[in-house]
Amino acid sequence: MMAVSAELLRNLHRIHTQLADLRDRLDRGPRQVKIRETNVAQLTAAKEAAEENVKQCKLATDRKQLDLKSSENKVQELKVKLNTAASNKEYQALTDQIAATEMAGSVLADEILESFDKIERLESAVAEAKKNLEAGQTELTRCRDKVAAEGDVIRGDVTRLEGDLADAEKQLPGDLRPEYQRIIRSKGADGMAEMAGGVCEGCGQKCTLQMQNELLMEKPVFCKSCGRLLYAGE
Ligand SMILES: [Zn+2]
Repeated sequence: MMAVSAELLRNLHRIHTQLADLRDRLDRGPRQVKIRETNVAQLTAAKEAAEENVKQCKLATDRKQLDLKSSENKVQELKVKLNTAASNKEYQALTDQIAATEMAGSVLADEILESFDKIERLESAVAEAKKNLEAGQTELTRCRDKVAAEGDVIRGDVTRLEGDLADAEKQLPGDLRPEYQRIIRSKGADGMAEMAGGVCEGCGQKCTLQMQNELLMEKPVFCKSCGRLLYAGE
């Protein structure tokens, strides 16, 4: 095979490594946005649940107030009847009924007061949930803007590096190109490695003396263990 300089291979490996890193960062951006979108969806659901709690508690309180009102009306009716009671027995029965109705009414009145406290607590939970949601939305917007801005820069870098890569690949000897392309297609930046101290940096395997000599003579050498295209260390 024709000679290939370590400098060219090292440069190619650097470009592939940088491109892989940039593409990884490009993929990471949308994932970061997605995490924040999920968070906002959860915070929205939490806020809606908190609002629903207030609504249900208010409805229950309204029902109790109506019950209290009708219990008070009942007491009034019973008191009217009391004035026209025909016997002691009837009088006593009505008195007992009034007492029982008033007792039930006073329990209801206590429950209504407790409900007002509860509504207050539930409303401050809504305020808290709204605050959390706003913070989540702010964070989502910030992340989206950051990812978009970084994405523009990264895509610019990718385009530039792809140009550098095309230029560098043109300098590869024609007979090396098919094997180079095959290994890059299958392994990307991991398709190349430096040989340092007679060892493949990719897999840590020791290279034969013959391989080390061939590398010194700038012959293309592939690691027998991992298949990486090797280049000499600086
Ligand atoms: Zn190797």
